[in-house]
Amino acid sequence: MPVERLLTRNWGKPDSRSLKSYEQGGGYQALKKALAMGPQLVVDEVKRSNLRGRGGAGFATGLKWTFLPKDNPKPRYLCVNGDESEPGTFKDRACLENDPHAVLEGIAITCFAIGAHIAYVYLRGEFMEQARILQKAIDEAYASGWLGKKVAGSDFALEVHVHRGAGAYICGEETALIVSLEGKKGWPRLKPPFPAVVGLFGCPTIVNNVETMASVPLIIERGGEWYAKLGTEKSGGTKLISVSGAVQKPGVYEITMATTFREIVYDVCGGMVGGRKLKAVIPGGSSCPVLSADEIDVPAEFEALKKVNSMAGSGGVIVMDESTCMVRALWRIARFYAEESCGQCTPCREGTPWMARILRRIEEGRAAAEDLAQLKSVANAVCPFPPMGLGNTICPLGDAAALPVHSFLEKFRPEFEAHVQAHRCPYPHPWGECAEAFA
Ligand code: SF4
Repeated sequence: MPVERLLTRNWGKPDSRSLKSYEQGGGYQALKKALAMGPQLVVDEVKRSNLRGRGGAGFATGLKWTFLPKDNPKPRYLCVNGDESEPGTFKDRACLENDPHAVLEGIAITCFAIGAHIAYVYLRGEFMEQARILQKAIDEAYASGWLGKKVAGSDFALEVHVHRGAGAYICGEETALIVSLEGKKGWPRLKPPFPAVVGLFGCPTIVNNVETMASVPLIIERGGEWYAKLGTEKSGGTKLISVSGAVQKPGVYEITMATTFREIVYDVCGGMVGGRKLKAVIPGGSSCPVLSADEIDVPAEFEALKKVNSMAGSGGVIVMDESTCMVRALWRIARFYAEESCGQCTPCREGTPWMARILRRIEEGRAAAEDLAQLKSVANAVCPFPPMGLGNTICPLGDAAALPVHSFLEKFRPEFEAHVQAHRCPYPHPWGECAEAFA
């Protein structure tokens, strides 16, 4: 349900991006408090808050910070992941556009807690405007002493740099992000070693998402216990979702972890466009297994979604109505992952375009009954279903491509069979014949 605005408390205020506006609302006081607390107490507070990463994997943030080796003399780095390329997800960009100083304050607190003196914010290549907004905020923060050699007058020194990628989806994966920041081709690498041990330039590195950073000042300001109580047993706080598709009011919303998808569609977003019937909801970006209309009473929270074999992912909620062709929707998703595969692993390199080709045949009415079995078999080779316990490939892109295939086939199989039997798509095509080119 709609909640006290915390992450979005400054959004919509006049000049909300400016340091003056942020300071007037109490901004950077949490940083001062953290500097007085000392690093260990800050880590403890974030652990107590049950904050889980908002980028997709949902790992416990405070716990992740403790994985940094204590006996490694190399410098430590913070990489902030603002690559946000998962289809359906557009909430980190809203954080940067509306409240860049909240992200910066979170970065400063995090760096102090983990002992890092350099932070890199990695933004997707297309985020030119967001990079400009963030750089302006960084410049203001340096000029006012919130960043620099003596952060808030303390002995703590911090540099923050903005880096734009070249627009590859895969650079949102943490190891690819690190490799890309090092100036190389953004190819994921095997883990372990995890970035906390061997990360940027071979040094211990924490990778955290933009929204995760924006949440940290709230935790220090009001306490980890207060933050934990806002959420569910294992997921603290509120979270942002970006809703797109067939709803009356698509957009970015702040919700509690207990909010169900029914509430998101019918209360938060004003119901379905044109009063049409809901058919399906993708709960957290296009890689998450789809929910059918009778599954939408599940809360938009990590553990609850895991129980129904789906994922909270990156908070990108995609709503589909009765006029949506599920074969065409899945084909569109499959093409995206085929295009973005980096090609290192055979199952992903070969499997993602193979799935897209089969789906095209089904959609265009050229498929045989065996194609459905073959589609399932290829998806299994990339990532078996149910989704937990992933890992036939170096990075999760292979899983991201296969999981939607499994779930669409499982929940909407009659639609796939109808395409095969009728040798055509039964849904009207807004652009005419189904001849969308795909090389
Ligand atoms: Fe590259 Fe795909 Fe392997 Fe990830 S799973 S490393 S994107 S080939």
